[in-house]
Amino acid sequence: MIYLDNQATTPLAPEARDAMLQWLDGPDGSGFGNPHSPHRMGRQAAAAIELAREHVAGLLPPGGKVHFTGSACEAINLAMRGTPGDGPISVSGIEHAAVWDTAKALGKRHVLNVAANGQCNTNQDVPQGTKLVCVMQVNNEIGTIQPTVEWHRKARSENALFLCDAVQSYGKMEVTGADMIAISAHKIYGPKGIGALWVRNGLELNPQITGGLQEGVRSGTLSTALVAGFGAAAAEAKDRMDQDAEHAEGLWQVARDMFHGNWALNGDEDTRLHSNLNIRRKGLDVNRLMSDCRNVMFSAGSACASGSGKPSHVLKAIGLSDEQAKSSIRIGWGRYTTRSDLEDGVQQILDAANAQ
Ligand code: PLP
Repeated sequence: MIYLDNQATTPLAPEARDAMLQWLDGPDGSGFGNPHSPHRMGRQAAAAIELAREHVAGLLPPGGKVHFTGSACEAINLAMRGTPGDGPISVSGIEHAAVWDTAKALGKRHVLNVAANGQCNTNQDVPQGTKLVCVMQVNNEIGTIQPTVEWHRKARSENALFLCDAVQSYGKMEVTGADMIAISAHKIYGPKGIGALWVRNGLELNPQITGGLQEGVRSGTLSTALVAGFGAAAAEAKDRMDQDAEHAEGLWQVARDMFHGNWALNGDEDTRLHSNLNIRRKGLDVNRLMSDCRNVMFSAGSACASGSGKPSHVLKAIGLSDEQAKSSIRIGWGRYTTRSDLEDGVQQILDAANAQ
């Protein structure tokens, strides 16, 4: 199988796996203690969690605290539901469902326009009394990089808080300032089931899960293994950031050269992470393509949206018609993708598309 869906999730790094194992030990080991217990086993687990917290924070701006959660979705829900006040919530038209659906569920969603190149620019107003602005740093479907520094500034000038969903950028580029930042381990070669919300010092959120508040603003016993895996993955991502980016760039050139002619790129060519290629071809039957290429893992949109049959709201937001959106595919590579895997996978996709 050829894995070209690294925006959906990434394989577990060996370093993250190694860091997790001792905390999964059963009765003969000492790794299973509750990290919130005051005895020796508990304190050892708590120390591992604090070390991981430092590693995770090492890729985030100074002046805030990392609170572990069960996922980025949970972190985003905590940020959005836990922000005091009841004004409108302004969200870019290309937010992940975690932000998009939560703003809608809260009944306060105001949608910020996105240009055809996949960027949500600050040359637009937010409604008066807006309490929260949410603009992601890198989009999960088209990989475009957003002007989050400017949005943070604009939110502040409107007395609103700024939440940045940095799930796709964390570990791959510098994550810039915000009031709250949501991240997830499984996008950086860490385990699934663990995310975090970074909260700027001095900002108080209303807890959404009560029952001990072990993470200050979030209740629930932490999994030492998952947290240790997240920490190790973050440390590795920090060490290898340049190397990973160089590797991604090399593969971008390969993929761009192979998809020429009647394939059109969705989103800007340059202001994007070069590990995400979202392309469309007129008349392409994506469902048929996916079933013809069973051994190549790629996506017909975001993992959450694909399968729903609805055209992606992200592709619609950048001005694509239903037909164009439905004839789009996303291919994403990462640290462990080899050139030959990419070439082989793309060739299979091209052959199947040409046979339609
Ligand atoms: N935000 C973005 C941009 C994502 O890509 C994802 C995952 O697909 C999430 C949020 C949700 O992350 P998690 O799977 O940790 O809930």
